[in-house]
Amino acid sequence: MKRQFCLPCFLELQKAGKHDIKRVGGGRNMKITCWRCKRRRYGAEYEISRKGSADQTHEERGTSNAKI
Ligand SMILES: [Zn+2]
Repeated sequence: MKRQFCLPCFLELQKAGKHDIKRVGGGRNMKITCWRCKRRRYGAEYEISRKGSADQTHEERGTSNAKI
């Protein structure tokens, strides 16, 4: 999936080594809202996927509003 990260968050993710992460979108820094720290900073768009996980369906649960 594509996510936008600032540089510090990208470096941390890369260092943690739990995701495959690579830059997309031409490689230019732009003003983005970082998906990880939620701050508005300079960053870039990355393609990120969890390493060694066949199941990505539970990746983003809990973010949508549940109607009861
Ligand atoms: Zn960030």
